[in-house]
Amino acid sequence: MTQGMTMSDFVLSGLKATPGSVAKGTLGGVSLASGAIARLPVVVVHGREPGPVLLVTGATHGNEVVGTAALTATLRRLDPEKLRGTLIAVTVTNPLAFDAASYGSPYDLAHMAMPLLWPAMPDGMITQRLAASLRPAFDVATHYLDVHGHWDPGYAHPMVMLFPDQAADDQVRADQARMAEATGVTPVRMFEPKDGSGALVGSIAGQPAAAASTHGIAGIMLEVAGHQNVGGTDPARIAIMNVMRELGMLDSPAETSPRPRIPGRFAYHGALVNKKSGLLWSTRPMGELVEAGAVIAELTDPWGDLVEQIRMPVTGFRWNLSGAIHGSHSFAIPEGIVIGFVAGKEGD
Ligand SMILES: [Zn+2]
Repeated sequence: MTQGMTMSDFVLSGLKATPGSVAKGTLGGVSLASGAIARLPVVVVHGREPGPVLLVTGATHGNEVVGTAALTATLRRLDPEKLRGTLIAVTVTNPLAFDAASYGSPYDLAHMAMPLLWPAMPDGMITQRLAASLRPAFDVATHYLDVHGHWDPGYAHPMVMLFPDQAADDQVRADQARMAEATGVTPVRMFEPKDGSGALVGSIAGQPAAAASTHGIAGIMLEVAGHQNVGGTDPARIAIMNVMRELGMLDSPAETSPRPRIPGRFAYHGALVNKKSGLLWSTRPMGELVEAGAVIAELTDPWGDLVEQIRMPVTGFRWNLSGAIHGSHSFAIPEGIVIGFVAGKEGD
């Protein structure tokens, strides 16, 4: 690096940001029968000094609009003159699903947290085409944060996933860890679940943050509470800005999350699956550290009888309790549904 080095313009898919400026535009586009074009809205905030290129995606799952809310709240607080490096904010990553208020695209049911980026498939199915238009952002990013939300605050606790097994090298693994710790919410090390529930909920390696890490871009995935509204905006906005602070992009002091991390180290255990049908009742608060074997939820049948008690499989915490991850989140559930996810506490 030469002293007095000046920053160059930042160009992403034809969108150009000069140093110390904000550029707003779109990525890609798929045409619909009505003639409407669905595009990915993107904002590039390009600083005057060198630094990381952080990509943040919101609404990867289309109904998780809290990611869009948190990114827009972040953008309103940034001064490009004072930023180091570059923020690429893709505020709506799956516009087809976002506009349909659905988890995946209505046409092919695919969602953007599937393995769609490597290789990019610009001539593939409609959601593969959208993902291909996102890929140039990954090709210039050094770090990646994927912002998700799940269920209402009463039934979810914020957490952040890191993917040590998928990291390309120790540097990527270390960057994942410090980014996750910086968010202010509880980090959970993700591994393929031993209980076989990976077959139900998809492979860990296919998550975009995991796949990015395999390609040398340190990626983490944030899950906050309140996904279909803007209720979870603040924990997510604070997490985004705290990651930017950790990476040296912002000078302001780190903020404390309104729903701070649970003490200890945690690793993904797997999904909670019910055996009986009925109405689902949570018996313990979300985000509480619970001993293995403790009853955390109950099911009652339509005649009012208790038909099942769901126990904590390991000592740890549940980060959500939802009727069905791809469904309506109704708490009237059939047998054999993924009703929530568990992280186990690791020994020190
Ligand atoms: Zn999601």
